[in-house]
Amino acid sequence: EVILSVRNLTANVDGNQILKGVNLEIKAGEVHAIMGPNGSGKSTFSKVLAGHPAYEVTGGEVIFQGQNLLEMEPEERARGGVFLAFQYPLEIPGVSNLDFLRVAYNSRRKSQGLEELDAFDFDELIQEKLEVVKMNPAFLSRSVNEGFSGGEKKRNEILQMALLEPKLAILDETDSGLDIDALKIVANGVNQLAKPDNATLMITHYQRLLDYIVPDFVHVMESGRIITSGTKELALELEARGYDWVREEEAEVA
Ligand code: ADP
Ligand code: MG
Ligand code: MG
Repeated sequence: EVILSVRNLTANVDGNQILKGVNLEIKAGEVHAIMGPNGSGKSTFSKVLAGHPAYEVTGGEVIFQGQNLLEMEPEERARGGVFLAFQYPLEIPGVSNLDFLRVAYNSRRKSQGLEELDAFDFDELIQEKLEVVKMNPAFLSRSVNEGFSGGEKKRNEILQMALLEPKLAILDETDSGLDIDALKIVANGVNQLAKPDNATLMITHYQRLLDYIVPDFVHVMESGRIITSGTKELALELEARGYDWVREEEAEVA
């Protein structure tokens, strides 16, 4: 079952073309990693998939579970099971983390034709999910991400993910700013949530996260394109040799 199919995707920001023809296919049960140097378009790609309004799609197509993703509103994408963990998670002052999670969860349930959970049942569910990320329940009564450390924000995103059980989870640099213990907790959460009927797309600048989350496929993005793909060995080779050799090999083929 193909979950995501991206063909020749091009996109602009402020009139500048950033994505220059991205091709990618992700099937159920797969974990993919996109690596690549800073500024290559990785975050742009994840924001385009989430439907961020600042990014203008100029060509190509994105099919998510048989539907044209590009025609869906950002909220529809989220309700439909696309989850994006941002490189820089948003703070929402004045909204408690618990309320935020409950609203997000119930709106996903409604879109699945299920009844909303009442506060009581939701509370029970969220306690169970807190275990996945080993998060202190005190974080539920605080405003969303406000004053959270970098590591706590990332953990909170994995909590959101554990609760929403997305079909496609996109994690943009979830490893940045994490110490090794937090990294292991986040990786463990992601590993627990990866199932045969969903898929994970990890975006990372460093190989380090891939010591804990083993991808089925590794892609290298450069100048707005995926220029090469391989298995986890490719990530190890990138770690050892940097990105230049991929560019050179690409230039020879082209
Ligand atoms: P990555 O995540 O791979 O580091 P990004 O997707 O964040 O790369 O950025 C890709 C390129 O797009 C960079 O050159 C960046 O400067 C440019 N870019 C991102 N946002 C904007 C913007 N709002 N206006 C102009 N250029 C942008
Ligand atoms: Mg970057
Ligand atoms: Mg980025």
